[in-house]
Amino acid sequence: METTGTTAAQGTDRPVIDLLQLYPRDMNIYGDWGNVLVLRKRLQLRGYDVRLHEYNPGDAFPPTVDLIVGGGGQDSGQNKIQADLLALGGRLKELADDGVPMLAICGLYQLFGNFFRTGTGEMIKGIGLLNVDTVAGPTRLIGNTVIESSEFGTVIGYENHSGQTFLKEGTQPFGTVTKGEGNNGQDGTEGARYRNVVASYLHGSLLPKNPAVADFLVRQAALRRYGSFDDAPLQVPFEVQARLDAAARPR
Ligand code: GLN
Repeated sequence: METTGTTAAQGTDRPVIDLLQLYPRDMNIYGDWGNVLVLRKRLQLRGYDVRLHEYNPGDAFPPTVDLIVGGGGQDSGQNKIQADLLALGGRLKELADDGVPMLAICGLYQLFGNFFRTGTGEMIKGIGLLNVDTVAGPTRLIGNTVIESSEFGTVIGYENHSGQTFLKEGTQPFGTVTKGEGNNGQDGTEGARYRNVVASYLHGSLLPKNPAVADFLVRQAALRRYGSFDDAPLQVPFEVQARLDAAARPR
């Protein structure tokens, strides 16, 4: 395992957040790395030191994890991480049940679910952290996307997936599609929510344009580790502009 970022607590008394990026080598497309950058930056602006752990197949899982993020991938990338992710599944489910905030985008969202059957009929097993099933459809669902979320307001992103995901019993969507296709192009849902887990098809990346989602993850991580969080709003001008630009784009 590679550890980068601030090696916190060395001579400082700033609080530390351990941020884990799952599978950056194989699952990190359409700008998903930007989610890690935003989480790290917003944590730093709020006074936390960030230890960034990049976890690839075969690495040791860090002993302390406050926040988990992972991106999308090609079917081949999903195949490469499948065995490792299945081995990690029990631990990830325990952490989710314990309130650890997580962001899973597209290919990792699918594998946080029960399974993804690809366009060639291959079955890639998921860990069942989310009760969702994914089957590739006849055409890819591609384009700029806008959803409405009761928790986060208007959320803006970009989707590109063959998989069509269906929420099964007890699973809530992340939001409702107002532009684009979302989970499956049929039922108007997008993504999934469970405890402090946010799963979504939206790349672009998601968090730079949607600071409300970023701050939810940051807040839950800080509250769980330290029991308190200063909710003072952070206005980053680039984010305001990115949001306006992205919302104005045609599909
Ligand atoms: N390979 C998956 C699909 O095509 C996920 C794609 C992605 O992560 N963008 O559905």
